Amino acid sequence: MTESRVAIVTGAARGIGAAVAQRLAADGHAVAVVDLDAAACAGTVDAITSAGGKALAVGADVSDAESVDAAVATIADELGAPTIVVNNAGVLRDNLLFKMSVDDWDTVMAVHLRGSFNVTKAAQKYMTEAKFGRIINLSSTSAQGNRGQANYSAAKAGLQGFTKTLSIELGKFGVTANAIAPGFIQTDMTAATAERVGVPFDDFIAYAAKEIPVQRVGQPEDIAHTASFLASEGAGFVSGQVIYVAGGPKD
Ligand code: NAP
Repeated sequence: MTESRVAIVTGAARGIGAAVAQRLAADGHAVAVVDLDAAACAGTVDAITSAGGKALAVGADVSDAESVDAAVATIADELGAPTIVVNNAGVLRDNLLFKMSVDDWDTVMAVHLRGSFNVTKAAQKYMTEAKFGRIINLSSTSAQGNRGQANYSAAKAGLQGFTKTLSIELGKFGVTANAIAPGFIQTDMTAATAERVGVPFDDFIAYAAKEIPVQRVGQPEDIAHTASFLASEGAGFVSGQVIYVAGGPKD
């Protein structure tokens, strides 16, 4: 039987985060749906509550430690001690290196890396006290290098090192840390990439699907399914891993 926990999912107003939040709620957890704007979380919260689950919309900028500390304290007060964290909030600032600004670099580092650090640091005391925790960080196949993504690939590779270190430090408290590295997932993020390169999204998807062994692109639910497994009680011996969810093999 699944024990009911309190989960935090960042960037959960839409895309992968929204699907993960809904899946964790369906698994029986109370879910803090965190995004920049609390009002933007209403769709995800409504989907969860109308399905009989429990959810709370919380506005926070993950890159800002004060904002995160306040959000996590609110979550602990209103839902209980958070012991599942999914660091999913993300942004793209793609450009070839010679055109990439310092701001493009810093923004991506601040949201993905500092954001995951901030949220994990604020939540870890609840996990160590509970002697249970599940930390799930969203990496990417871009961690292996991707044209136009010097900032994003560095951040996503950095998250893999962060994840492995968390697993080493926190294992003795019953806390696991794992990363999910998605391939192409059909969301607003990949739609924005299609727009940036000037290709209709349907064509972009069809082209990507041909290159993927399972011959389709991923859906947010594919990532939610993996997050559900990693958050489960039974996954307590899986830690420090990077799970590529990409429709084919990655190293
Ligand atoms: P998405 O549709 O763009 O959603 C990202 C969410 O994060 C948005 O709701 C966004 O809010 C929120 N966010 C951005 N900055 C934030 C901040 N500072 N604080 C709090 N929330 C913030 O992206 P997605 O495709 O679902 O991707 C989710 C995660 O998976 C990201 O980490 C991404 O890098 C990773 N990923 C995606 C793919 C893919 O193919 N889609 C592949 C590999 C990895 P706003 O709407 O207000 O900006």
